[in-house]
Amino acid sequence: MTLLKSQFDQVFERIHEAERANGREGLVKLLAVSKTKPAEMVSEAWQLGQRDFGENYLQEAVDKITRLSELDGLVWHFIGPIQSNKTREIATHFHWVHSVDRLKIAKRLNDQRPDDLPPLNICLQVNISDEESKSGATLSELPELVASISQLSRLQLRGLMAIPAPEEDALKQRVPFKKLADTLESLNREHHLNMDTLSMGMTGDLEAAIAEGATMVRIGTALFGARDYSSRN
Ligand SMILES: *Cc1c(COP(=O)(O)O)cnc(C)c1O
Repeated sequence: MTLLKSQFDQVFERIHEAERANGREGLVKLLAVSKTKPAEMVSEAWQLGQRDFGENYLQEAVDKITRLSELDGLVWHFIGPIQSNKTREIATHFHWVHSVDRLKIAKRLNDQRPDDLPPLNICLQVNISDEESKSGATLSELPELVASISQLSRLQLRGLMAIPAPEEDALKQRVPFKKLADTLESLNREHHLNMDTLSMGMTGDLEAAIAEGATMVRIGTALFGARDYSSRN
């Protein structure tokens, strides 16, 4: 068995255990975060059956997407910060964007989504731990963002994403995830929507996220090993 296979097996075991513990069997999708990792590793993961991959850096991602275009069924998710001059390439190459946090970006993605592709799946990134420096819309900005973005025909508003601050305590770690889940529910109710995605949980906190209703966990390190940024500036 390859190292990659054993790491995928371990992550699926963690996911399935957390699903079972919370009566949520089969409800959590694994998004494999392949940023900084070579196309060969994505291809190897594809051979193991993985289809959904998350990327943060546009140029690196487009290189991989182009090189791997012959692999069937790949679903690419953009999960990194978005500069407005990058929206056209994102709208062209990706199936999902998890990191939309302002209307201007959403409008550009909508306008630039190619006509021959289905609507682009969107999650709004929420600054759930309310830290000054982190990206993401504030809770108070969400109702207006949701109302506007749900009207854009080339986007499909799927749900919310967050990267809460890490907590030592497992129960404390659940608090921001619960807040995100409650927020999705109330937005759906108040705006008569059916958003179905809670993109939350990473290598360090996937159990807490699944306990509070995550439908997609974004896992990098536990699948592909530590990232090496030394070749970046
Ligand atoms: C890098 C990254 C991840 C993966 O984090 P790990 O801790 O390596 O699992 C998940 N989500 C986002 C938005 C990321 O940038």
